[in-house]
Amino acid sequence: MQMLDFIDTEQDRKLILKEYRSLLLACDRNFSRQDKKLIREAFKMAAEAHKDMRRKSGEPYITHPINVAKIVAGEIGLGPTAIACALLHDTVEDTEITLDDIEAYFGPKVAEIIDGLTKINQVFDLKSSFQAENFRKLLLTLAKDVRVILIKIADRLHNMRTMDSMPRNKQLKIASETLYLYAPLAHRLGLYAIKSELEDLSLKYTEPETYKSIARKLQQTKRERTRYINEFIKPIVAELDREKVKYKILGRPKSIHSIYEKMKKKNVEFEEVYDLFAIRIIVDAPPEEEKAECWKVYSIVTDFYQPNPGRLRDWISTPKSNGYESLHTTVMGPKGRWVEVQIRTERMDEIAEKGFAAHWKYKEGSSESALDDWLQKIRELLKNPESNALDFMDDFKLNLFSKEIYVFTPNGDLKILPSGATALDFAYEIHTDIGNKCIGAKVNHKLMPISQKLSNGDQVEIITSRKQKPSEDWLNFVVTSRARSRIKHALKEERKKVASEGREILERKFKQLKLAFNHENLEVLCQYFGVENTIDLYFNVAQKRYPLNEIKKLKDAGSNHLVLPKKEEIAVPRKKQQSIKKGDELLIFGESSDKISYQFAKCCNPIPGDNVFGFINLNGEIKIHRTNCPNAVHLMSKYGYRVVKTRWNREKEIAFLTGLTIRGLDDVGVINKLTNVISGEMKINMRAMSIDSHDGVFEGNIKLYVHDTGELEKLIHKLKNLKGIYSITRFDIKEEEE
Ligand code: MN
Repeated sequence: MQMLDFIDTEQDRKLILKEYRSLLLACDRNFSRQDKKLIREAFKMAAEAHKDMRRKSGEPYITHPINVAKIVAGEIGLGPTAIACALLHDTVEDTEITLDDIEAYFGPKVAEIIDGLTKINQVFDLKSSFQAENFRKLLLTLAKDVRVILIKIADRLHNMRTMDSMPRNKQLKIASETLYLYAPLAHRLGLYAIKSELEDLSLKYTEPETYKSIARKLQQTKRERTRYINEFIKPIVAELDREKVKYKILGRPKSIHSIYEKMKKKNVEFEEVYDLFAIRIIVDAPPEEEKAECWKVYSIVTDFYQPNPGRLRDWISTPKSNGYESLHTTVMGPKGRWVEVQIRTERMDEIAEKGFAAHWKYKEGSSESALDDWLQKIRELLKNPESNALDFMDDFKLNLFSKEIYVFTPNGDLKILPSGATALDFAYEIHTDIGNKCIGAKVNHKLMPISQKLSNGDQVEIITSRKQKPSEDWLNFVVTSRARSRIKHALKEERKKVASEGREILERKFKQLKLAFNHENLEVLCQYFGVENTIDLYFNVAQKRYPLNEIKKLKDAGSNHLVLPKKEEIAVPRKKQQSIKKGDELLIFGESSDKISYQFAKCCNPIPGDNVFGFINLNGEIKIHRTNCPNAVHLMSKYGYRVVKTRWNREKEIAFLTGLTIRGLDDVGVINKLTNVISGEMKINMRAMSIDSHDGVFEGNIKLYVHDTGELEKLIHKLKNLKGIYSITRFDIKEEEE
């Protein structure tokens, strides 16, 4: 044939054409001329591109894409676009053909699918250590079009069917991947026949001895099983005929893999696997009578054999989320053996065998757009963790799906980012300098702002400029902690730079006012403007945020120092609201307290680290007291039986509100000293602070958030070491005061 004149030998040409014809036979006969042309063109391009390549088995390489296309057409039931893509699936990866060639020749849709298939291969080949779990997620996320996954499954199925010439280590790798990855995927997509075959083939390579022994035993028992099934169906057949039901009955051997699983799970021998017997009754019924007809058959079957009530599955009234519809029951057959009976219609059977894709045939016409709708549904299904295929969810953690995205560098390196990540997050992921200098990004070759949210499969190239500097508002659109901390660090450095300008301004101002530029004066100024340290003070000065002529008013006449106007209470600006979560790390009866409801006793307000006990009051509520609570002795001695063992688990995440009363010498700058230790050194957040002073002595009450007693003790120790501090005592904050 002229079409293949680039193939060297007559023998190869014949073989390739034979394969191609069998592909055409597998295609739907309703394909239009346009459809057929698309397939032919894809075939020609692929055959020429692969012309010098051979498979390990020695056959021309093109036989592989043809067979993948045949699976796609015949066993999955997809349309011409997918068939063409299957034919072309290895071209961009392995031949001179580029994605642009494909797009120019076949348009953007085909190019998109081939791109997805190529990316999957690249990631997989480049990073052989890439974890299967990640790959599984990747596979799902890369596939903008679910046909990518379906073709990939077909690709894998054909490779599994023809793995004999592969070296043993490759066989093992491919087989275990298949079991882990592709079989569950096929199951998810409702491709039951393919799923079983993939599992059986995997077992054949991973456990060849077991596989052979089960296969042999199935073969040996075949006649006996057939005889049994014939006996079983005899009365059913007679009754179905009498009722004029149109049906066919298939004896359905269990898959080798499922028998193996059962043997393993129940720890039994082949002979003891009880439900080796299964039949399927497929009825031919018009759509409006499907359900009634299936239940009619059910009723006939159970007239003869007692059903196991626990094993009735009605997936006709409520189809599985992957589209599976069927009625299953297990009945007690002759000689006391359980037989599984599946009842469904022709339509249901086709969907069960070929998956969702088979649906489209039963929808309006057989246009590709109807198919597209179905494919879209599958994609939704893959994405939606709430769909009721719980059995599948167990080993398929799709919730991860929404939490992470996969993006590529221009070199094809993969970066995993949290969902919602932007181009800027990506830049910081590559390098801090790239992030700091980032001015934009090319996302899939299109220019985008640094705040651009990235999607799965995006390829991102960062554009930088030497003049760029991080700014405060960047924090509004980064999501990774890496980017966040790098930006904050850069901002802090920047702040220090600005602050040094502010310092110079202030120094000049002090000179002008004949004030000493010393620590004490600066402390007064910090307090006056309500900032915690001189860096902030300088920074705000540089930013012209303060009316500097007010400094004059603070000058102590005749001296070179500043004094604060007398104030009764200086409120510490509220830090960002901290919730005082009670619980989480309290262990009651050794159980995590979030499982038990309890309250903290108001009389002693325990905080983490305190020695505590739980006390069940008359209303049955658990109250947590400190062991040194004034009420404790009384409670424990009198109502010992109501005491519940309780202790704190080590956990430092949650802050608790507590109070300190501090007494000492009234001294200018004492507040600043205290706050320096509390929020500067110890980084403890203060809620409020009030100072009373008379006759040179002050008493301050500070409310602060601590994580545990350890932290509180350390703080008290540090404060006690400050000059002029006499005493520090803890006070408890009552609920209503907060
Ligand atoms: Mn392939």
